[in-house]
Amino acid sequence: MTWAERISPAVRAIPPSGIRRFFDIVAETKGVVSLGVGEPDFVTPWHIRESCVYGLQQGYTAYTSNYGLLELREEIAKNCAASYGVNYDPRKEVLVTVGVSEALDLAMRAILSPGDEVLVPEPCYVSYKACVSLAGGVPVTVPTRMADCFRVTVSQLEELVTPRTKALLIGYPNNPTGAIMSKAELEGIAAFALKHDLIVISDEIYASLTYDGAHTCFASLPGMRDRTILLNGFSKAYAMTGWRIGYALSNPDFIGAMTKIHQYTMLCAPITAQVAAVEALRHGQCNMLRMVEEYNRRRRLMVDGFKTIGLDCFEPKGAFYIFPSIKQTGLSSLAFAEELLKAEKVALVPGDAFGESGEGFVRCSYASSTANLSEALTRIGRFVKKYI
Ligand code: PLP
Repeated sequence: MTWAERISPAVRAIPPSGIRRFFDIVAETKGVVSLGVGEPDFVTPWHIRESCVYGLQQGYTAYTSNYGLLELREEIAKNCAASYGVNYDPRKEVLVTVGVSEALDLAMRAILSPGDEVLVPEPCYVSYKACVSLAGGVPVTVPTRMADCFRVTVSQLEELVTPRTKALLIGYPNNPTGAIMSKAELEGIAAFALKHDLIVISDEIYASLTYDGAHTCFASLPGMRDRTILLNGFSKAYAMTGWRIGYALSNPDFIGAMTKIHQYTMLCAPITAQVAAVEALRHGQCNMLRMVEEYNRRRRLMVDGFKTIGLDCFEPKGAFYIFPSIKQTGLSSLAFAEELLKAEKVALVPGDAFGESGEGFVRCSYASSTANLSEALTRIGRFVKKYI
């Protein structure tokens, strides 16, 4: 038996991330304008970095409670109550994790038994279906369409729900489409969850990055607080991707179960990042709003740019991605991304990296300088002209 054959079937079955695979090629090419990675181009605001340095000077170098620093959990709970009117007990309903990535994995492992089905609207963040599968569950794709503004509908969910469905995993504002859901639409989803007695995992990592009206927190909807595992973090809103800090909020049983796994696998999130996260929540609002304003300016630039190029495009309402259709070119998503990279040295992510329903689209991140975005639009325009 080869080494490869000794790897668990569950791990072998999941495909490598479409984003990473593509960016291995980008790393080897010079002069590329990359709108590929979903990462703020801002450095973490200085006051947040400074709080970490100060924390180190004070000797904050040890493990924390498995749940995370109580001070941070209290700030998280306070922030959620102030922003969305949802109250959580910081002692047993808040878990600090190593990014939303870990929280997603913990949520799936805490609730799923082998064969349990999880409804996952698509296109979606690359980790969603992999986390479900690695936890022994079965991801059930719910394709959304540009014509519906990439919003999932209750009738679609009703068609796919079965007696084995245990949960629904949603992420709005959405990566990669920039779609959001209105409060009324989310209320429909909440009624569906109640009717079928489902757990809802709501990844709200882009909650602060909305441009067209306030974000509705799923857990704030009537009857949803205890049924929801609410995930959020610091990577996007505070430009803190490398700090690896996120959190989960839910009833004490779900949070307790997730903490049980977390204590054996991660022990705790890094204390340095937790100290910085306290500062981000206490004093980071102004800088965050400035970054959101800048993303909004770039969003307009990209929407107008793709309009001029002549590619159909849903106008994103949140996050920092735009997801134009490239169907008019006759190329597949992968061929478009590969040919564009070869011909014009612009790196985008093929839409099928976010699931089959992303085929026919490409994802561009506008978390990049205006100069980069303008240059990329010029090059994409030149490339597309060859096909339409
Ligand atoms: N959820 C979504 C929708 C994301 O886009 C990302 C990162 O791109 C994550 C979760 C992971 O975030 P974190 O850095 O907190 O692990």
